[in-house]
Amino acid sequence: MARVVSFGSVNVDHVGYLSRDRIAALADAHGWFPGAGETVRVDAVPADIHDDLTETFLGGKGANQAVAAAAAGADASLLGCVGDDEDEHAVVETLAARGVAVDGLERVDGPTGYAAIVVDETGENHIAIVAGANGRVTPAYARRQGDRLRDADCLLLQNELPADAILAALDELSGVERRPTVVYDPAPADGADAVLAHDAVDVVTPNEGEAAALSDALDGFDGTVVRTLGARGVAVDTGDEAFHVGSPTVDPVDTTGAGDVFVGYLATEFGDGASLRAAVELAAVAAALSTTAEGVQTAVPTRTQVLDGLR
Ligand code: ADP
Repeated sequence: MARVVSFGSVNVDHVGYLSRDRIAALADAHGWFPGAGETVRVDAVPADIHDDLTETFLGGKGANQAVAAAAAGADASLLGCVGDDEDEHAVVETLAARGVAVDGLERVDGPTGYAAIVVDETGENHIAIVAGANGRVTPAYARRQGDRLRDADCLLLQNELPADAILAALDELSGVERRPTVVYDPAPADGADAVLAHDAVDVVTPNEGEAAALSDALDGFDGTVVRTLGARGVAVDTGDEAFHVGSPTVDPVDTTGAGDVFVGYLATEFGDGASLRAAVELAAVAAALSTTAEGVQTAVPTRTQVLDGLR
């Protein structure tokens, strides 16, 4: 069984459906509120806004990719930090129920990372993100996890943790004889060039927006670039060889997190020793199938469903 370790973020998304009048009242009361279509980063969300958020979903790219790897059949685990609040229990229980090992997660003071997502009556999102425990993952934590990082067959990294912690995780792999294949998802793109410059990164998986934002850093990157192109499939460039893998035609209902499903499956195939082309082909089918169901973690297809989709 492929051992896939995701060193990354975990969030709880708190979602509520509010009228624009209610949103205007909250904005008046607090002096701020994200606008329609806007995502802002804040230190905390006031309790009365929280009270209006009635649905919760587990997210964060680190957690999503670990869940996808578990569905793909990997021995999957998540490394990162959670807070000391109620969300922490939801995170641990939900991840364990989805087959992700959580024994390496550490608890820090303060909130678990979360997003407050308000959907107004026109369907526009107003999003406030609190980094919480994700912002408190440190180089010292990465060093404490050195054995788990090195023991993986495939290590997944994303750009939702502090850069110094990500770089410290990569440093743990330097100079060791047997080390995992490292797949880095440069999302969000801001600041990802520093990680791309680390020579322990083997594969990078930008979507089209990230590839455009990081074009200079990708030109200088000497590993394999796997660009995901939404419905147009995947473009792979190893430096020696370039090829394209198409997407199966599906009727998408929710494309959120398709990239995370793609990466989770890709990592599992790499961990099992599959060829680059076979891994990308299977991951593209899994990602396409995930767009046909709502949500992210709840939309990850099982390996059997993906293999059926390949036929
Ligand atoms: P992200 O979700 O990270 O923004 P993409 O939109 O490129 O990344 O999607 C990742 C992968 O998911 C694509 O390369 C493709 O394999 C699959 N995918 C996404 N959208 C569709 C779609 N509409 N139809 C089929 N496959 C899709």
